[in-house]
Amino acid sequence: MSRTDDQGRTLCTGHTQAGKKCRAPAVKGALVCTHHGAAQGTNGRAAADRVVLEQLVAPAMLVLKDLLENPETPAAVLHATAKTVLDYTGHKPIVRVEGVPALAQLVAWRDELEDEG
Ligand SMILES: [Zn+2]
Repeated sequence: MSRTDDQGRTLCTGHTQAGKKCRAPAVKGALVCTHHGAAQGTNGRAAADRVVLEQLVAPAMLVLKDLLENPETPAAVLHATAKTVLDYTGHKPIVRVEGVPALAQLVAWRDELEDEG
């Protein structure tokens, strides 16, 4: 059961050095205030975002699974869903840029320009 202050904000679950409960509001999406660890290594907002996003991973995966298994999923949605799953599981296609001149060609062009100039 979380404690709240008179403004309805959830209070930090940390304790002071004297052993009393911390009275600071917890960072949104976290259980503690910035003083008690919500800000370790980054700013408190980013920490809170990570907590919230981590909680959304499992439900999001279930949505993707439902879409892929539902025979009524439109083909375009099915394709986009399959692509999303493949992209985020290490099956992203290799991007190869073609048509970029080789170093030797660049050097030859530079030499031509220098000869003209
Ligand atoms: Zn605290």
